[in-house]
Amino acid sequence: MQANWNGMSSIGRSDLMLTAGDMPVPIEIRPLRTARRLRLRYDETRGVLKLTCPSGMSRRRALSWAADQRDWIDAQLRRAERPRPFVPGATIPLCGEDVRLAWVADALRTPCLEGRELRCGGPESGFERRIETWLKSLALQTMAADVADFAAAAGVRPSSVRVGDAASRWGSCSSEGRIRLSWRLILAPPAVRRYVAAHEVAHLVHLDHGPDFKRLEAALFGSGVADAKAQLRRVGAGLRLFGRRR
Ligand SMILES: [Zn+2]
Repeated sequence: MQANWNGMSSIGRSDLMLTAGDMPVPIEIRPLRTARRLRLRYDETRGVLKLTCPSGMSRRRALSWAADQRDWIDAQLRRAERPRPFVPGATIPLCGEDVRLAWVADALRTPCLEGRELRCGGPESGFERRIETWLKSLALQTMAADVADFAAAAGVRPSSVRVGDAASRWGSCSSEGRIRLSWRLILAPPAVRRYVAAHEVAHLVHLDHGPDFKRLEAALFGSGVADAKAQLRRVGAGLRLFGRRR
């Protein structure tokens, strides 16, 4: 494990990287007045290591401590590669925020979000299926709205918006203007999900990835295209593990 840092850029932003194997993992440093010691946490949803340190400590010292936690970091990265079935008690990211799945026998069969808990009643046997169905329908509703926003800005209209679960792509746009997006994007941080929507809407105008396409994509999404793309690369594989038993 090697700590690399790019000068003294602002604290708290994920502009620092720790390299685990050949995969760079962004690390955010948070100095805390109340922190007595260094603490490392891995935010699976964002694919970011979070390092808390006492506020007087230098970044260099904090980072060098983090770089020594290689075994722990490797274990967290491996853990993040396990299947994550929708079972009672599991935690899933919803729009990038952790939500706990709860089976409540006398609650409604249709899942209902209460605070940080997604409650679902009915027989326990259909729990996983009901959670997945609910997520897909939320995904469609949310991403159809994302697409509508970007399409209005681009002055175009898709012929349809659907959600699916393609193994190799997050979204697609046909020459007939049919947009398909992965329902799993509802688990991703909103910027990642919206980036994919903006990308596919830009394809309603340009079917290739040429300079005109890139200009329109950036005009629709704003300046964070590269960040959102990098974040999707980091968290994408993890999102594909949810709702699976193996
Ligand atoms: Zn594309």
